[in-house]
Amino acid sequence: MTETVDLSGAACAASLREETRGLVAGRDVRLVVVVATEDEGTAWYVRSLGRAAAKVGIDCETVQLAPDAAAIRARLAEASAAERVHGIILQTPLPPGADANELGRLIAPYKDVDGANPESLGTLVAGLRGKDVPAFAPATAEAVVRLLDAHDVPLAGRRVAVVGRSTVVGKPLAHLLLDRDATVTVCHSKTADLAAVTRTADVVVAAAGRPGLITAAHLAPGAVVVDVGTNPTPDGGLTGDVDAESVRGVAAGLSPVPGGVGPVTTALLLHNTARAARFAAGAGHQ
Ligand code: NAP
Repeated sequence: MTETVDLSGAACAASLREETRGLVAGRDVRLVVVVATEDEGTAWYVRSLGRAAAKVGIDCETVQLAPDAAAIRARLAEASAAERVHGIILQTPLPPGADANELGRLIAPYKDVDGANPESLGTLVAGLRGKDVPAFAPATAEAVVRLLDAHDVPLAGRRVAVVGRSTVVGKPLAHLLLDRDATVTVCHSKTADLAAVTRTADVVVAAAGRPGLITAAHLAPGAVVVDVGTNPTPDGGLTGDVDAESVRGVAAGLSPVPGGVGPVTTALLLHNTARAARFAAGAGHQ
């Protein structure tokens, strides 16, 4: 029986917020969140992002639009051109028929704090991110790495299985992990015998959007598990992709849902916005 440590995101998020306050101090930093859905869960999330922004001194404006791609295009172009705006988030879900890549391209890369512009992903994959090249990874993908670092989970030379290959989580995460010298396997819905693959991993990241997908049968004893899934429950709560009861006693660590990757993601979006503002001010993109 292995003791399963709770990989909470609280301390990591708090330390990011502290850094963000320092980066923001004395500056007028502005984040624009473009929302084109009436989805209640999204509205709740955007309100909580606005509150979190206020706490670190960032002015967060929510632009609520009708579900119309032309209106989104116009607002993204306007925010990209506006000198006063430092960060832009295009909130999902998008209206039916809207093309995330096409809209993402309208976000100036140096304001693309959630890595929605395909150019940002290209910069990440090409290994060009750095002081002189502003580019942000999608915040959820980077939050997974930050959370593992905060809990001293080593990555270099370790086998990591990422379950999910979306452009917002799985793919960028695979590249961030490669940059950290992990040996990465990316799994998806066509992976044959998922459990056989994940059982070979030291770290399993579940980002499939399938409640309870990962059980004890998917893990080597002592594996560390990060649960990215945020699946709504009938009672209005959230549940992850990992069957927490099943893996407890087998996994060495498990990130909770809620309270794991989520708070780190929110804190990172604001941290990225503060870094974007520093870049705009010519202070470098650290
Ligand atoms: P997505 O675009 O729907 O992608 C899901 C991925 O999982 C796809 O690559 C899919 O494979 C794979 N998959 C689905 N069922 C599978 C199965 N049975 N076995 C193996 N792989 C399977 O979802 P997403 O946007 O990446 O989000 C994933 C989860 O993370 C969702 O629960 C979402 O709500 C959550 N999320 C959380 C945060 C946060 O801050 N915590 C942020 C963003 C997303 P195919 O490619 O073959 O279809």
